[in-house]
Amino acid sequence: MAEVSFVAQVDRYFDKAARHTEHPQGLLEQIRSCNSIYAFTFPLRRDDGTIEVMHGWRAEHSVHKLPVKGGIRYSPHANEDEVIALATLMTYKCALVDVPYGGAKGAVRIDRRQYSEGELERITRRYTFELVSKNLIGPGIDVPAPDYGTGPAEMAWIVDTYTQLTPSKLESAACVTGKPLAQGGIRGRVEATGLGVFFGIREACSDPVVMQELGLPPGLEGKRIVVQGVGNVGFHAAHFLHEAGAKIVGLAEYNGGIHAEDGIDPDAATAYFRETGSLLGFDGATDVPEGSKLLEADCDVLVPAAIENVITQENAERVVAPMIAEAANGPTTAAAAEILLERGALILPDMYLNAGGVTVSYFEWLKNLSHVRFGRMDKRFDEASNLRMMRAVESLTDRRFEQAMIDAAVVGPSEADLVRSGLEDTMVGAHHASFEVAQRHDVDLRTAAYILAIDKIAHIYAERGIWP
Ligand code: NAD
Repeated sequence: MAEVSFVAQVDRYFDKAARHTEHPQGLLEQIRSCNSIYAFTFPLRRDDGTIEVMHGWRAEHSVHKLPVKGGIRYSPHANEDEVIALATLMTYKCALVDVPYGGAKGAVRIDRRQYSEGELERITRRYTFELVSKNLIGPGIDVPAPDYGTGPAEMAWIVDTYTQLTPSKLESAACVTGKPLAQGGIRGRVEATGLGVFFGIREACSDPVVMQELGLPPGLEGKRIVVQGVGNVGFHAAHFLHEAGAKIVGLAEYNGGIHAEDGIDPDAATAYFRETGSLLGFDGATDVPEGSKLLEADCDVLVPAAIENVITQENAERVVAPMIAEAANGPTTAAAAEILLERGALILPDMYLNAGGVTVSYFEWLKNLSHVRFGRMDKRFDEASNLRMMRAVESLTDRRFEQAMIDAAVVGPSEADLVRSGLEDTMVGAHHASFEVAQRHDVDLRTAAYILAIDKIAHIYAERGIWP
């Protein structure tokens, strides 16, 4: 199979899944089509006084639910095809995990390492201004979030710019998610995508039938894992996997990677990367100067968590991991996926595996709209109820609980607890739903995830109809 554009790949996955549904062709075409894409340029005054023209995009793939939602990426490779493909994936991803949004995506074509913090702030504020002026941002319209190359700082500049331009809006904090806590963010958003990746891998590894098919023992303990990219998603996925007893045997970055059969501490290695700008030279591990070679390393689970199109027709034959966990968006090309599936590999698809970010973004948006922190109203009430229950058991049994047992049992949920619980429930639910559909239709997990998403969106149109 020849390699094709990112959009063509996503559409190909869609068409493959659509054949397992019974929806009319016109409706399938409507679900698949990108609603709109806005491409724009704007000037940046650089710190040295020169002017540079920036290229930006915002694609809104589907408005079957509003607002639409999707990250903004800062990447030197950003282009229209990629933005549309990522917006399309967002539509299906949101449908799959029951997050009530249409899909969107934005980008600015820059390598953020080449710009000062002041320049990044000016780029972000001007990008936001463009979105506001075209009505492409707002709590009920389009709600961006972080993606590759952006994080809480950019989200803080976005919410500040939006608020300044629309001062009378009570809900302005809900115009973007992934904000710092003090700007209306939510506990647990930063690590949400990586934690969701962890939940997805954990579920697959704890299924004895799946593990037997892959020739692996069940359980996460001792699983040998390679992670590509130690940014937000890759670092947090590696952190939680390591914490649960898996062994991180390889970490890769764009400028080199490291390998250690005895395992690498991902926290220490990432701190070293942030400090020195490279993983190379990290104590206790062997340097792998060409980081992408680690995709071919002998391991149980390969976690590409950096960028798209890293497993291609060119290297797929040499990728030996029995399980590929797509933490990044689109890391495996359609042609490569066929090669991997043919040799019996299990691919946990990006569509649900990295849905943790948008899931917790949804919780953040709800928090912003309600203007109250989760747990604030009920934490103490739950604690008092739990304590009353324990005292009642004591009086009925005439026995006393130890104080430590009471302390552990009565504690009410904090915002962080509720976010983690909601995220885990969503990820576990999406995992099992995808496995069930995969089995029923005898298809791979990606096709199953698309079938689920298509059915859910088609159902909305069927109930609501389509405007003439
Ligand atoms: P990030 O910018 O925080 O981290 C990306 C990391 O990958 C960086 O450390 C970068 O140096 C590294 N990298 C870039 N090119 C590489 C290469 N060729 N080889 C190895 N490493 C390379 O970005 P992120 O937010 O972690 O996003 C990573 C991926 O996850 C993207 O595909 C993104 O679309 C996807 N994703 C992110 C989120 C989120 O909440 N941040 C949510 C869903 C999906």
